[in-house]
Amino acid sequence: MKSFAELGVKKEIVHALEGIGYVDPLEVQEKIIPLALQKKNLVFTAKTGSGKTLAFTIAFLARINKKHALQMIILVPSRELCIQVGKEIKRVCEPLGINVGMLYGGREIVGDYRTLNKKNHIIIGTPGRLIQHINEKNIKVGDVSCLVFDESDHLFEEGFYEDCAYLRERVSNNSQIILASATITATVERFIKEEIKEFLLVRVGVLIPENIVQEKVYCKRADKEVILQKILSQKRVKRSMVFCNMKSTVTWLSGLLNEKKMKARPISNDVREDDRLNYLNLFKEGKVHVLIATDVAARGLHIEDVDLIVNYDIPTRKEFYVHRIGRTGRNDKPGHAITIICPEEKEQFQDIEAEFGLSVRLREGIRS
Ligand code: ADP
Ligand code: MG
Repeated sequence: MKSFAELGVKKEIVHALEGIGYVDPLEVQEKIIPLALQKKNLVFTAKTGSGKTLAFTIAFLARINKKHALQMIILVPSRELCIQVGKEIKRVCEPLGINVGMLYGGREIVGDYRTLNKKNHIIIGTPGRLIQHINEKNIKVGDVSCLVFDESDHLFEEGFYEDCAYLRERVSNNSQIILASATITATVERFIKEEIKEFLLVRVGVLIPENIVQEKVYCKRADKEVILQKILSQKRVKRSMVFCNMKSTVTWLSGLLNEKKMKARPISNDVREDDRLNYLNLFKEGKVHVLIATDVAARGLHIEDVDLIVNYDIPTRKEFYVHRIGRTGRNDKPGHAITIICPEEKEQFQDIEAEFGLSVRLREGIRS
């Protein structure tokens, strides 16, 4: 394995990384940094939790001219992700005197003006809010020379496709474009075709980490809630995440588990942002043991030590399976994922297994 310096990262940036405990590059960083340093347009995939954020950020830091304002834009699909990615990048940038701002929908606009009052070299934002500020001329994109679409598959599929295409067209044609994601979907391919002329496609490592034990349980639809309760009490998990397809299921299940004294909280777009952040923190602190979530709300969140993922519903899109179970087993720690399957969903799950070449084992000993 090469060191950051051997990859071509400048000394002061290497120092900043060491300062926060990042001594060696992770695999995706080792592959991506040298290519990004060559200013190539990149489309890369790597499993969740593998270090993609810094893989696409580090190379650009040396190119930042501190006298200029905005030079790099990183687009993310949700405010939670915006805050998380922002935090991670700030840790490296602060010691280097590089300013990082975050702009995301759902926040009072006054907060944005505070952010915009300073000179931001890098902005991380959700598409809608960012475009609003660009159109109101609160942000100038003339000096932007690197545009990143993080979790690009999700960005494009959550109705942000047009916004992303617009942003790509607003920045200079010579800008470096980077797409990072865990999976490449049809819309990602469409975006590449329509918006990026030349690029390199890099797939790093295996999609589903081998350290995650995947299991499935068959039951009748009506028995799912009982099975879930059994799984959660059997494992005595400290932190588990339960995924549902619908906001209404999230709300209902969360209520049900709380009635059973299971300390669960809902994470969906029906839950206010403040509450979501609060639940997330309680979960991280171990005061809440179960998060019940929809895919949209949970996407990309980095939470250490999730012991168990439960798929209460089979995900509506195959790639969501990869994202869901990627919440556990981060950084090569042991992980566990259980999918509850009713007869109506059997075929759908077989498709997922086929897509990713999985043979998920049957979990014995759980009966409704
Ligand atoms: P991804 O975007 O691929 O899901 P993240 O970029 O969120 O993953 O990184 C996952 C974790 O790895 C984060 O907690 C981050 O702080 C940590 N990390 C990133 N780079 C390094 C490194 N070089 N050494 C150690 N830890 C790292
Ligand atoms: Mg990420």
